[in-house]
Amino acid sequence: MINRDHLARLLERERAAFAERNPRSRAAYEAATHLFGRVPMTWMNKRAGGFPLYLATARGAHVTDLDGHSYVDLCLGDTGAMAGHSPEPVIAAVRRRIEQDGGLTAMMPTEDAAWVGAELARRFGLPAWSFALTATDANRWAMRLARAVTNRPRILFHSYCYHGSVDESLIVLADGEPRSRWGNVGAPTDVLTTSRVAEINDLDGLERELAHEDTAAVLIEPALTNIGIVLPEPGYLQGVRELTRRYGTLLIHDETHTFSAGPGGVTGRDGLSPDIVTIGKAIAGGIPCGAYGLSGELASALLGRADLDLVDMGGVGGTLAGNPVSMAAARACLGEVLTEDAFARMIALTTRLTTALEEAVRSAGMAWSVTQLGARVEFRYASPAPRTGTESDAAGDGELDDYLHVFCANRGVLLTPFHNMALTCPATTESDVDRYAEVFTEALATLT
Ligand code: PMP
Repeated sequence: MINRDHLARLLERERAAFAERNPRSRAAYEAATHLFGRVPMTWMNKRAGGFPLYLATARGAHVTDLDGHSYVDLCLGDTGAMAGHSPEPVIAAVRRRIEQDGGLTAMMPTEDAAWVGAELARRFGLPAWSFALTATDANRWAMRLARAVTNRPRILFHSYCYHGSVDESLIVLADGEPRSRWGNVGAPTDVLTTSRVAEINDLDGLERELAHEDTAAVLIEPALTNIGIVLPEPGYLQGVRELTRRYGTLLIHDETHTFSAGPGGVTGRDGLSPDIVTIGKAIAGGIPCGAYGLSGELASALLGRADLDLVDMGGVGGTLAGNPVSMAAARACLGEVLTEDAFARMIALTTRLTTALEEAVRSAGMAWSVTQLGARVEFRYASPAPRTGTESDAAGDGELDDYLHVFCANRGVLLTPFHNMALTCPATTESDVDRYAEVFTEALATLT
């Protein structure tokens, strides 16, 4: 048990040190009076230290801030920079496109798009790909297509999922009952009329919901990654596939974060066969790009529907999606940076880190768990590791998160603001992960 007064004092001390260390970031934040909430995006107000650190430079696995401090970056843009910051092949491809060939955006395809589609098909096992600019949009388009082809209204999600600010997904189970998620901003309609919800690892609960036969698609991450990491139990994902087939529901895997599991995410690693895969963030090395891939059957069914406007107003939008720069970046990132060899190295490094974090938790006598999903690892304040989203939510502790995050930042290690997650990229080194393990061990010692 952690003494709360002690924790509050520790947090105050670290925040004071943070303010002292970062006068230029603080001044920039205070001066940004014409930004909504003083930040470019309101979520950047998730700042454990009281104000956000401002970025100066970023290369590989390291960033520097406005006050000149250097960090081991294990946040990596919450996966957007899983290829590392500004990877050379991506920079070269983007420069070629911009400076030599020209064409930032045009209503014309480039050959890079077909290359990327073929590579995603090879990795994820789905033959027909299309592009968006974000994972949120890839999910939105996938859901529309699923509703169109099944002629069913609802989408089912895991409780405590996150798939971007997708209205339908903001549903949770509270005491076993479906509810709108706390804080849901401007819901267009009651989420209980558009959606269904089940816990991850509960096939009976999933079957009860699917038996209503009004669900167009189950849209899930193959492991929850936005409420800590909650891994699927053996056989769970296969069970989801069987049940969705039995009840005429499509299955969508959102691999945006679970891409950390390998070159084809969990889908490729475990040889799974969803009807649709969605992905975003890392695939173009940090340049905006989202994508969704369809099974051959689904693609033909959709293209054969004369009543669906897949070309104009009523269809799937995104003027800037599939633009020449995103496609050049995605080709370079998938072809030369996030390769099979790179994943093998990243996963081995993350296993080394996982072992070190587990050792730190064990020797501090904390009842915490450490969960690895390929190149990402996260600690959670419960042991054994939570097996559902609701259990993981109950194991959260915002004040403790803030303390550990500021403690790490003050010692040159950045974690993802919304998670206790550490991610490795191809440029991360053993000394980077060892530094985090050292700082984490030091932090735990202050708590006991
Ligand atoms: N899917 C998952 C699994 C995510 O974690 C996120 C963002 N954290 C998204 C989709 C949305 O990504 P974006 O905000 O880039 O659209």
